[in-house]
Amino acid sequence: MTFTGVFELDYNERLADLLYGDIKTAPEDYERMYPRRSLTEGARVTRFAPSPTGFLHIGGLFTAFVNKLTAMAGGGVFLLRIEDTDKKREITDGVSEIIKGLLDFGVEIDEGVIGFEKEKGNYGPYQQSRRGEIYRCYAKSLVQKGLAYPCFCSENGLEEMRSKQEQCNVNKGYYGKWAKCRNLTYEQQEAAVRAGRPFVLRLRSEGDENRRIVFDDIIKGKIEMPENNMDIVLLKSDGIPTYHFAHAVDDHLMGTTHVIRSDEWIASVPIHIALFKACGFRVPKYAHVSPIMKEEGGSKRKLSKRKDPEAAVSYFVENGFPSQSVREYLLTLINSNYEDWRRANPKAQQSEFPFNLKKMSPSGAVFDMLKLTDVSKNVISVMTADEVFEKSLAWARE
Ligand code: GLU
Repeated sequence: MTFTGVFELDYNERLADLLYGDIKTAPEDYERMYPRRSLTEGARVTRFAPSPTGFLHIGGLFTAFVNKLTAMAGGGVFLLRIEDTDKKREITDGVSEIIKGLLDFGVEIDEGVIGFEKEKGNYGPYQQSRRGEIYRCYAKSLVQKGLAYPCFCSENGLEEMRSKQEQCNVNKGYYGKWAKCRNLTYEQQEAAVRAGRPFVLRLRSEGDENRRIVFDDIIKGKIEMPENNMDIVLLKSDGIPTYHFAHAVDDHLMGTTHVIRSDEWIASVPIHIALFKACGFRVPKYAHVSPIMKEEGGSKRKLSKRKDPEAAVSYFVENGFPSQSVREYLLTLINSNYEDWRRANPKAQQSEFPFNLKKMSPSGAVFDMLKLTDVSKNVISVMTADEVFEKSLAWARE
């Protein structure tokens, strides 16, 4: 090791202790606590990871269902993780609403949060607000590796930086020569910390926007994007992780093999890949689901939480659609060969359908109320009279 090498090691260790001296655990402790799952071949671990910020949207149910089907197809595990790091946006009963929404439609949770302060599984806690120590431990290890540093820039300072970037017509963000705190000396960092100045922890990005990353999205196909070169925030000034950092740590420790989520996250994949690599984690497989659309006046738009009552899953419960019908209809949107399969197997259980994630359409499915009603009619028509009576009674009671 060169003299500089020794010095850097010492510097990283000192900085890690200065920032997170209270953290006594190391990543190896968590690796031991959450060992690799012993899965049979082809078994997949998937997760639905909503934030409890509103009612369960039909798009959320759709994504959760695809996750569940993927896990079920190979005898894997479907887990529910609650991403509640943004306390300001959280709503009362948000978690119970999500769980109820999933259960109402028969999307059973194999592992994770299953009720108020109730969890099942060996990879928890499954609620991010209870995982603070874990994130801080991995954050500390990144500082030890020289891959993260504290940033003391104020909101005003960042605003100023952004307007300068605008004037210079360059990409906005904290990177390269704009990243003021990237090259502070240990003495400067120590003085700022001792003076009680708030700081966020940033990734020391090794990416270059002129290089490209390529990944195979199971639904969308091959995607190529510039590498992430931003020194993104890992921990906010209150020590709470950003979504990006928590995603990497959680999906690694929980053993997620397939990250199936809404396609609004595609743009963040370069950040996520950079984080998985920085932390030394294996990158999971990604599958990005398109939003559910609504046809209106000859054009298509996303189903909207504000405008469309059918965007909330509770709408279907209230209007008496059996959960089986909603699932049956969603299956027709999920795999286009479902209807043919159903015609050939009118009596088969939905779970017997050979679901294939790769067969999902890369573009957004249109939600068609008439079609749902029609599918529902078929589902009800093969129920026994007793079943119809029981379900109607239960619905009327509620
Ligand atoms: N909490 C994120 C959301 O609600 C989850 C994204 C993900 O599944 O990775 O959109």
